[in-house]
Amino acid sequence: MRHLWIVTVLAIGWLTTSAVAHAQLRVVTTTPTYADLARRIGGNRVAVTSIMRGPENIHRIVATPAKVALVAQADLFIHSGLDLELWVPALLRGARNAKILPGRPGNFNAARGIRLKEIPRAVSRAQGEMHIYGNPHYVLDPINLIIIGRNLRDRLSEIDPEHAAEYHRNCAGFEDRMKRELLRWLRQMRPYRGLKVVGYHNVFPYFADRFALRVIGYVEPKPGIEPSPGHVARLIQLMRRERCRIILLNTWADRRTAESIARETGAVIVPFPEWVGGVPEAKDIFSHFDFLVGNIVRAAQQVRAEATDAEPVRGDES
Ligand SMILES: [Zn+2]
Repeated sequence: MRHLWIVTVLAIGWLTTSAVAHAQLRVVTTTPTYADLARRIGGNRVAVTSIMRGPENIHRIVATPAKVALVAQADLFIHSGLDLELWVPALLRGARNAKILPGRPGNFNAARGIRLKEIPRAVSRAQGEMHIYGNPHYVLDPINLIIIGRNLRDRLSEIDPEHAAEYHRNCAGFEDRMKRELLRWLRQMRPYRGLKVVGYHNVFPYFADRFALRVIGYVEPKPGIEPSPGHVARLIQLMRRERCRIILLNTWADRRTAESIARETGAVIVPFPEWVGGVPEAKDIFSHFDFLVGNIVRAAQQVRAEATDAEPVRGDES
């Protein structure tokens, strides 16, 4: 009798779990930032998996069979469009999942509705360049994440109209919190308006415009192109002339080149993860921006303090 009771309980448990699992939309995202956003907007109506972990160079991911298998099962596939994920067409070809092909509701291109920056006049990949449609690193502006969140709310409501009210509620909650946090980040960065920085790979225009940084140069001469010794020498000259002493380093970038530039210029190297998961501290969208803003502010304080120590008579008004 007791045995039968246990079997019944187990069976009910299994039925409940499988019913819930079945009702959930399977969402696959290219990056952990989209995965976090999808969980925030979709709540427990979605089961989300990201293809990237976060520290990798998004341009250089390879469409492995395991990644293809993930996408083959997806009800909704979230990606950046443009030429950020150059590996997406191969992934979609391999997955043979009609639901998520471009133009279908299951294919969510996050670039829609985003005002792109740095759109080049001529489109060329002649030297293996990237960013040929404009700079694709737009999720580094919190306001763009609000826009993407609203579009995602609408798309989830289209695919799953029964739970539209829930998606709207979740999205409103996300927006409220993002606006509050953004004001806090802006306050933290305000004393350093116009701070000069050098980047490695150009992921910066959206972040730099929002937080009033001045990116004066890049270690890569063009996005996706390795630096030559001549380019590095010119960059060092530029940093000395402009008194720029901060290098923002992508998680996947060649640290040795950045370190040799830092030795020549007395610059501080600041880690700059582009995605949630890029460093362990960037657990979600909010802690990611906390990490970016916090590290830049600390580096700016250090550079400013050292500049004041070095020039005690004249001071430093800038
Ligand atoms: Zn890029």
